[in-house]
Amino acid sequence: MSDTRIPLGALSPEGLELHLDDQALWTGPLAEFGMDCRITSPISADISIQPLENGYLVRGKISGDVTVPCNRCAEPMPVHLEEKFEDFEDTPAEDAEPDGESRIIEEKGALYLDVAAIVWEQFVLALPPNPLCRPDCKGLCPECGANLNEGMCACSRDEGDPRMAVLRGLKIRKQ
Ligand SMILES: [Zn+2]
Ligand SMILES: [Zn+2]
Repeated sequence: MSDTRIPLGALSPEGLELHLDDQALWTGPLAEFGMDCRITSPISADISIQPLENGYLVRGKISGDVTVPCNRCAEPMPVHLEEKFEDFEDTPAEDAEPDGESRIIEEKGALYLDVAAIVWEQFVLALPPNPLCRPDCKGLCPECGANLNEGMCACSRDEGDPRMAVLRGLKIRKQ
């Protein structure tokens, strides 16, 4: 994998621009977290790192194509990613404990920006929070698991139809 820890001490005042397209940046954590998301055209990120008074302004854009499962029917659906992001990383105080939130790592007294963590986080944020293959996706039958977009299953035919409920009510009254 390309080096994704940027030494901040060596950063010029104009900052730094990076283009990242090593797919392992995304395929690695996707596998690690067991996420059901497949990359269908390569992901890439363009990043600029700008040193400011108390930290670093990280701006960029992430793009590519993936498929994710529909939230209701679990069928894979294509998602085109094209997201801009902006993030400010505070320079950690001299004696600060690492807080896990910061993307700035200290090692042997030198500060590094963990660009791999940033592009992974931005990738996750760019994914749709509630992916639906279509707005009116009917989802899966809770009884038999059939995909209701492909037609009614035997169990939903009875319970799902309000007219059938009326008929059932009539039957009860007759008894
Ligand atoms: Zn669906
Ligand atoms: Zn069913």
